[in-house]
Amino acid sequence: MSLKSKNAIVTGSTSGIGLAIAKTLAENGCNIMLNGMGDKAAIDTQIADFSSTYGVKIVYSAADMTMPAEIRQMVADCKAQLGSVDILVNNAGIQHTAPIEEFPEEKWDAILAINLSSAFHSVKAALPEMRAQGFGRIVNIASVHGLVASVNKAAYVAAKHGIVGFTKVTALETAEANITCNAICPAWVHTPLVQKQIDDKAQRENISIDEATRRLLGEKQPNKRFVKPENIGALIAFLCGEHGAAMTGEILTIDGGWTAQ
Ligand code: NAD
Repeated sequence: MSLKSKNAIVTGSTSGIGLAIAKTLAENGCNIMLNGMGDKAAIDTQIADFSSTYGVKIVYSAADMTMPAEIRQMVADCKAQLGSVDILVNNAGIQHTAPIEEFPEEKWDAILAINLSSAFHSVKAALPEMRAQGFGRIVNIASVHGLVASVNKAAYVAAKHGIVGFTKVTALETAEANITCNAICPAWVHTPLVQKQIDDKAQRENISIDEATRRLLGEKQPNKRFVKPENIGALIAFLCGEHGAAMTGEILTIDGGWTAQ
């Protein structure tokens, strides 16, 4: 089974891991619905670059992952503009770090909405179509924090553990329908989401950015190297391809040894 002409939604694909996933799927012949926040001109340039580099159809949804109605509309727009929703990658996510006593309620709500509930809304909207066509591949981007915890990340760890559970339920409910649902749990990937944590650490500990990066990796990630975003894209291409067909409900780490400890 080739991915050629499959239609994929990748949420949060204007930056970081989502952008790399979208590029890998496009390289494999998928048409892509991009989604995410950002400067309109920069997004237009991205769309033009995708189309000219990969020769696939690229459309864009500005759906805000905190808004269920917009998520439903994104799924409907993908079907209307590309013809179907074959692959759904729930990747959009944000982070905020603080001890529980100081954790702002609005950050808790936003992290739960974007990192967890958005996947429920997109999967709920996409499943009827996937069942009708007898094919669907769903991949949720969780995190090592879907399996283990760190201090000061209450909302993120709760949301990521939640999406691991939601992945398993989705897999069970769709097991006989040629629909698979898996979660990927990466460790540190060098993206804007992590750069902010490095910058905060450098400031807090009064050290250079290089030293903060070294310490951040050294604290938890045994191989002391960032996971490359394209590694995650390649695993998703595998899961959506012929040899991933029997993999469902899997919680797959790409973590340089983080959760082996
Ligand atoms: P990033 O900040 O580079 O990208 C996040 C993307 O989500 C952007 O496209 C942004 O526009 C989009 N987004 C944010 N809020 C949104 C909203 N309300 N509606 C729609 N889109 C929204 O971050 P990243 O590091 O690429 O993270 C992507 C995913 O990978 C997240 O779910 C994150 O939790 C997960 N993850 C990241 C790491 C890491 O080390 N970077 C590790 C494990 C898991």
